[in-house]
Amino acid sequence: MSHPFMVYLETHVVDYCNLNCKSCSHFSPLAPHEGFNSPAVFEKSLKRLSKLKIIIGTIRVMGGEPLIEPEITKDYLKVARRRSPLSKIHLVTNGLLILDMDESFFKVLADKSIIVDITSYPPTLKKREAIVEILEEYGIDYNFSNSPVESFTKILSTQNNENYRNEYRNCFNQNCIFLKNNRLFKCPTAAMIPLFVSKFGCNIKYGFGIEINKIKDGWKCLEELDGPDLLCKYCIPSKREMIPWSTTSEPAMEDWIVKK
Ligand code: SF4
Ligand code: SF4
Repeated sequence: MSHPFMVYLETHVVDYCNLNCKSCSHFSPLAPHEGFNSPAVFEKSLKRLSKLKIIIGTIRVMGGEPLIEPEITKDYLKVARRRSPLSKIHLVTNGLLILDMDESFFKVLADKSIIVDITSYPPTLKKREAIVEILEEYGIDYNFSNSPVESFTKILSTQNNENYRNEYRNCFNQNCIFLKNNRLFKCPTAAMIPLFVSKFGCNIKYGFGIEINKIKDGWKCLEELDGPDLLCKYCIPSKREMIPWSTTSEPAMEDWIVKK
């Protein structure tokens, strides 16, 4: 008998980050610098998805920057492996704190067969050799691109876009199912947009995801996730704007909104 197959699922350990890239699609520069998400709630969500017989291909545990909370990140990774034993499990990090992790952290990565995805931001590349050395010492699989991140992309608009179905079909984020507080969202931007709206007070409308406890049928859930979100009406990937990568200590609305 076949099972509903969710190709990809990602989730945040913490919503804030130690790098604060301008135009971060997870809105991390706008997140309060405190707290973390609950591994117990994450476990409950994965348990429910497994009860619905949904098989997950890849789970990516990220942020914000997950290594700000290494103990909680370890719990997340253990939960992911326990509740979804057949999935590929990745830890996504900007790498800046990896060299500060203790032995127990690397042992969890190795024991639970976690793949570490390190994004090559310019400050990360300065530590590349040492990061690679420690991951290899513990026999941990990793992906570390050679070339530095040089640009970021803006796709948000404050205007409602009638052509949103076409835009959605061309969106690079359309298969990035995001889990937050026991709810499934179309993408991280759709899940984290409340940070943007509450900071800048604009008219962008957004949905509230699918509450996992209310899902009765795994196939229908995947069908629902296959279409555009309310927020897709405020995205125009075809008019995307590339901006040079940089960090920000004073995030502004224009960091995310395309000029048109
Ligand atoms: S490192 Fe990643 S999560 Fe952190 S601000 Fe940059 S893009 Fe966002
Ligand atoms: S809200 Fe829709 S169009 Fe915007 S990034 Fe997410 S999937 Fe893409």
